Amino acid sequence: MCERFARRSLYSLNDLLFHLPIHYQDKTCIVPIASLRPGDNALVKGELTHCQIHQARQTVLTCTIDDGSGILLLRFFHFNKQQLASLKRGVEQGKWLTSFGEIQYGRHTLQVTHPEYRIIDKNQIVQVAKTLTPVYPTTEGLSQQVLRNCIQQIIEKLTQQHIEDFLPRSIRQSLNYPSLFQALIYLHSPPADCSLFELEEGRDPYRQSLIFEELLAHQLSMKSSYQRQKQLHAFPLIQATEKKHYSTLFLAQLSFNLTQAQQRVLDDIILDIEKSSPMQRLVQGDVGSGKTVVAAMAALFAIQHGFQAALMAPTELLAEQHRENFQQWLQPLGLKVGWLSGKSTAKQRRESLQQIADGSVQMIIGTHALFQDKVVFHQLAMVIIDEQHRFGVHQRLALLQKGNASVAVKNYPHQLIMTATPIPRTLAMTAYADLDCSIIDELPPGRIAVETVVLSEQRRDAVLERVHLACLDKRQAYWVCTLIEESEVLQCQAAEKTYAALVNRFPDLSIGLVHGRMKADEKKSVMQAFKQADLSLLVATTVIEVGVDVPNASLMIIENAERLGLSQLHQLRGRVGRGSQSSVCVLMHGHPLSKNGKSRLKTLRETNDGFEVARKDLALRGPGEVLGTRQTGLAEMKIADIIRDQQLIPKVNETAQILLNEYPDSVEAIIKRWIGQKTDYQNV
Ligand code: ADP
Ligand code: MG
Repeated sequence: MCERFARRSLYSLNDLLFHLPIHYQDKTCIVPIASLRPGDNALVKGELTHCQIHQARQTVLTCTIDDGSGILLLRFFHFNKQQLASLKRGVEQGKWLTSFGEIQYGRHTLQVTHPEYRIIDKNQIVQVAKTLTPVYPTTEGLSQQVLRNCIQQIIEKLTQQHIEDFLPRSIRQSLNYPSLFQALIYLHSPPADCSLFELEEGRDPYRQSLIFEELLAHQLSMKSSYQRQKQLHAFPLIQATEKKHYSTLFLAQLSFNLTQAQQRVLDDIILDIEKSSPMQRLVQGDVGSGKTVVAAMAALFAIQHGFQAALMAPTELLAEQHRENFQQWLQPLGLKVGWLSGKSTAKQRRESLQQIADGSVQMIIGTHALFQDKVVFHQLAMVIIDEQHRFGVHQRLALLQKGNASVAVKNYPHQLIMTATPIPRTLAMTAYADLDCSIIDELPPGRIAVETVVLSEQRRDAVLERVHLACLDKRQAYWVCTLIEESEVLQCQAAEKTYAALVNRFPDLSIGLVHGRMKADEKKSVMQAFKQADLSLLVATTVIEVGVDVPNASLMIIENAERLGLSQLHQLRGRVGRGSQSSVCVLMHGHPLSKNGKSRLKTLRETNDGFEVARKDLALRGPGEVLGTRQTGLAEMKIADIIRDQQLIPKVNETAQILLNEYPDSVEAIIKRWIGQKTDYQNV
């Protein structure tokens, strides 16, 4: 039994109490058959008048009951001999029947299929339920009845003393919420006269109060993590004039000026890093908004104080590209860039680790490999994480631990986290409550919006011809092969096949191939060739989704576009439209396309705005999918849903702040009740 409870993560009495019904049944009164309507779930009582077996396509047992007001047909597709015998006997003996189930249209009368039923005597008084009957989410092997009985027993013995209200009374009252005790009793056994509709919608103050508290628990957990980190020590990096050596030189050597938005974000960063606690800043910026330059500046702010900076990227390809960019930018300044990736050879690795440890490299770039135990930094003062949605919270925190430990007080690095999936403000308040946020809300000047075209797979030949002509015309194009994400192997095979077909069909074009299963060196040289325009067409898998930057590429074809999430497509599309020429992105889809698929692709055709795309994507797929591994906590909430319940968020936010300032004991208790030990943020 225990194991079965565990499968639904019902470990304690507390868990059972907070395991709330998903539906309710009204068995509090007997409804006359004449007043039933299809769709009702109703308790009825009547005389058992017929019982028969029909041999149609399938064997069916049917009974009828008559309560004087009307006749109801009961149907059973599954039944056993005993059942049949007792019903038959019931008819002979003039017995009555109570039935509960969903009423449907039938051929001659209303009907109900597989109702719960009981045979009774004609004048027997039927005990109706005093409260609505809860229906709980169940799991295999744990029946509704067992769950209901367990919870009912707990509820009956429960008193106000058992359930402490951690939300201070004054706050609870100002929100017009009942006590937690009242709320739980109400939701597990709602009074007969309450509105079933309101209850099922979850709009009643009882459920709302619980949703509120759960959202609050998450907010508090993240905000306390934020506060704990703020109490750590970091080297203040005061950007006084005489210190601005490298960052000034770097800006001077760029071929463009920073946008106002980039400048504003840098100002935010400077304010943070001049303090003696670590920066924890998230930069949201649409694809192509120029986050890398901001990252480089942040790194230089640390380096010009004699410290190291590290940049972690989620894929080998992106890390490699950052390495090239940074090398190009920093070498002229006399700075050295170190490199660490999972695919480095043992010798390279040893050398890199040595250089990182002795401080002979100032800028370190890599993948997940950066936060492994063996990596010891000389004096790390700035950690930058690109495309954070690909990383878990613990990975970020592990890197944070790599601060400087060689002095008496441990100094933690400042952290800059970057994401290209911008989300609406209220959502950001919740999802990123443990970070300060800045937004790059402007694209570099001169960008021409990417034109997006949606075409059926049946037009493949025409598309191929268009790509051919464009490439002959010295334009560069991506051909992206996608499959369902799980299968990287198949995706790579698909790309290889497409590559072979294209090479065969267009001998006059120079075509390259890049996918996740190629060796790091191979990938690098292919990307290099594409960047130098030695290749005009690059066949790729979704490995190029994040960060790849080849400004001259102006055409992208995405196969099976309907299979990817909107944010992912937007990211991919962001690989073109980076230069000064007008770009086109062709979303090619299988035929026929579902209505839903059509409207999803239409969203991309209609907007180039990452916020808009993210909003649609969130509505369609939910935060867990869109925001990635970091947000599993949000996706696993028991009863709240940050999309559905977002109207509560401003108030939750405000309340969290009050609790943190004035009721520290409540903070701990609320977090523990709702999140328990699960959270990663706790143990920094
Ligand atoms: P993302 O925000 O998607 O990471 P990148 O940092 O890769 O974007 O920048 C996209 C392109 O825009 C790069 O080629 C970069 O050099 C260029 N870029 C960045 N900032 C500016 C700017 N202020 N003016 C013009 N081009 C810029
Ligand atoms: Mg980027």
